[in-house]
Amino acid sequence: MTLLETRNLSGGYRALTIFSDVNLTIEPNTITGILGPNGAGKTTLLKTLAGLLKAQSGTIRLDGNDVMPLSAHDRARHGIALVPEGRQIFQGLTVKENLGIPRSASRFSAVEFDRRFEEILTIFPRLRERLGQLGGGLSGGEQQMLAIGRALLLDPKVLMLDEPTQGLAPIMVSQVLSSLEALRGRFSMLIVEQNRDFLDRLSNSKFVFRGGKLEQTT
Ligand code: ATP
Repeated sequence: MTLLETRNLSGGYRALTIFSDVNLTIEPNTITGILGPNGAGKTTLLKTLAGLLKAQSGTIRLDGNDVMPLSAHDRARHGIALVPEGRQIFQGLTVKENLGIPRSASRFSAVEFDRRFEEILTIFPRLRERLGQLGGGLSGGEQQMLAIGRALLLDPKVLMLDEPTQGLAPIMVSQVLSSLEALRGRFSMLIVEQNRDFLDRLSNSKFVFRGGKLEQTT
């Protein structure tokens, strides 16, 4: 069964429409990429799917269920996770504290959350080494891994990543690529990027945003 499906989805800011008639179908455990230049509307689309922005029209279904009435918090609990652009980790909190933030939004018991916490540190050993360090003291690549680790604690069905390579040195881009490769097949990912090579390496299907419309590309 299709995991996430939009039909004729349009979104933007108040009366301003940024994208329209987006029909996107994401199957379980696949990686979908969306390419687009600055200002194309990639962030606006992800925020609309996450429930941070109200859609202007159309439908969004997760596992066949309409998620339009759900808040961002409830969509996260149902499995739509967003790693925002710029990572948005708390610079003044430690890595451990940053990873503890999803605890209240999580549908897991304290014991189960702790088990998942341990699993994330196994996936990202670098974070285990840095647990007591402040988020602001991490390199860009480590911050990206922290943001991804934090989203994974919610056990997402679809992990949406907003320009995960933005501002990263090439060596860090390779590390993020390897981390995401290692997670392939465990859940779905929707990645928006300006880095075509990164998407070519990861995605099963790829789209490009042109003039507010989504077009499939090879
Ligand atoms: P970028 O790589 O720059 O983040 P993007 O493809 O993610 O590009 P968006 O951030 O979705 O693009 O922006 C799409 C358009 O929406 C841009 O023209 C931008 O100026 C406009 N926009 C973004 N945020 C707002 C806002 N809060 N109010 C009005 N317009 C906005």
